[in-house]
Amino acid sequence: MLSVMHTLNTLPFDNSYARLPDGFYSRRVPRPLENPRLAAFNPDVAALLNLDPEEARRPEFVATINSEHPLPGSEPIAMLYSGHQFGHYVPQLGDGRAILLGEVIDPRGERWDLHLKGAGETPYSRSGDGRAVLRSTIREYLCGEAMHGLGIPTTRALCLLDSEEAVYRENAERGALLLRVAPSHLRFGSFEVFYYRSQFQHLKRLADYAIHQHFPQLQDASDPATALFREVNERTARLTAQWQLVGFAHGVMNTDNMSLLGLTLDYGPFGFLDAYNPGFVCNHSDHTGRYAFDRQPRIGQWNLSCLGQALLPLMEGDPGEAAEKANAVLEEYDDHFASHYATGMRQKLGLRDTRPEDGALATDLLKLMSDAGADYTNTFRALADFDSHPEAGNDRLRDRFVDREAFDNWGQRYRRRIQAENSQDSERAARMNGINAHYILRNHLAQNAIEKAEQDRDYSEIEILQTLLKDPFTERSGMEAYAEEPPEGEQRLVVSCSS
Ligand code: AMP
Ligand code: MG
Repeated sequence: MLSVMHTLNTLPFDNSYARLPDGFYSRRVPRPLENPRLAAFNPDVAALLNLDPEEARRPEFVATINSEHPLPGSEPIAMLYSGHQFGHYVPQLGDGRAILLGEVIDPRGERWDLHLKGAGETPYSRSGDGRAVLRSTIREYLCGEAMHGLGIPTTRALCLLDSEEAVYRENAERGALLLRVAPSHLRFGSFEVFYYRSQFQHLKRLADYAIHQHFPQLQDASDPATALFREVNERTARLTAQWQLVGFAHGVMNTDNMSLLGLTLDYGPFGFLDAYNPGFVCNHSDHTGRYAFDRQPRIGQWNLSCLGQALLPLMEGDPGEAAEKANAVLEEYDDHFASHYATGMRQKLGLRDTRPEDGALATDLLKLMSDAGADYTNTFRALADFDSHPEAGNDRLRDRFVDREAFDNWGQRYRRRIQAENSQDSERAARMNGINAHYILRNHLAQNAIEKAEQDRDYSEIEILQTLLKDPFTERSGMEAYAEEPPEGEQRLVVSCSS
């Protein structure tokens, strides 16, 4: 069926969250930024919303987004939530600098939150200024596209506005607005806030809402709250497995940043691995390494235990039975994670069959990579070219490792393993190159885009990265530099949490 494309002023809103009781949010309109201009626009996200991409060329586009006057049909609110930050419960968080403009229904009937980040203070701002800086919004904009390109569930963004408004972090920076788009912004902390306030009616209302809106298949479950918890448990285990497989460290896995739908949410000081270092900590405020790369799977489960705790009053049975059920769900996490991770790792290695020795083959390669500080992304990409002929030296791959003899031994095992399933090198290579990315959002690449935008208001690098990351598996001529490892001295860019 053909449908007419929308303009910003004709987007079909249906604001289900704003119809929930007042205690779920505060009504608040955005506070515009000074002299905004368009820094990035995402035609793919426009297509999701059935929004005419030509809208971005209209002079009114920027002013319409950067406005305290709601779009027709929108009902701006700041959502309430709380959460565990670095292991400690913080009773009130909420959208301190973002405003949910409303929910747009696409032609398939699916709904998309339009969420404006950096839109000024809200009742949940605490001591913050309600703003987001250009630097962090560029990173969030690009990483949403990078994750989407890698096939990992994520929030995305329709556009990014730069401005002339000074926003103070460690230094004076420029304020920016990111129009974020996601099927839902519900977080684990959205439930925790009502649990810890003993607002059990609100808690029940929220669970019913979440199930009705986002998990309708669970409506007829005998115990919907447990079924919801089981579903979120599965999705979170899958999401963390996907992060581990591509080498993504989120950096701030607090429960207020954990999506109920299993999306990658709230990009802050995230980082993709360059050299493989399992203990990689990307957030310079994370002094204990709580959110180190290799701790993410455990933290995912710990965060789920917080969600499970908050859902206990809704689970069927007496408190003892409810706790037992919640624990049984939590115990399923490891198996889900292990199964997604093992499947993904087999694909990265180009293996089709499942054999008992596969786990050790992967672990031993990772160990060699970690000993050598080999680049995580590029080493897996290079493995596609492994020549399984017994005489082949595989020198280009071999040179990535410090202990060449150990690599040769591993290579022998790998050769036997792929030959055992009658793998043909060229067919295997093609499969692997569709799994192991060529381009990832390395810190130094994002930094380069940020510096051009900050210094010269030159946004061209954002567009280049957006194009490459959208299809990170296809090598493009002239773009070799974008697949290179960071230059000397830029390997250890620390990322500030003050975004
Ligand atoms: P984050 O760690 O960025 O996910 O943020 C944690 C909490 O702090 C959330 O409630 C945010 O809305 C709030 N927050 C972060 N930065 C600001 C800011 N500049 N102004 C107001 N609130 C903020
Ligand atoms: Mg957050």
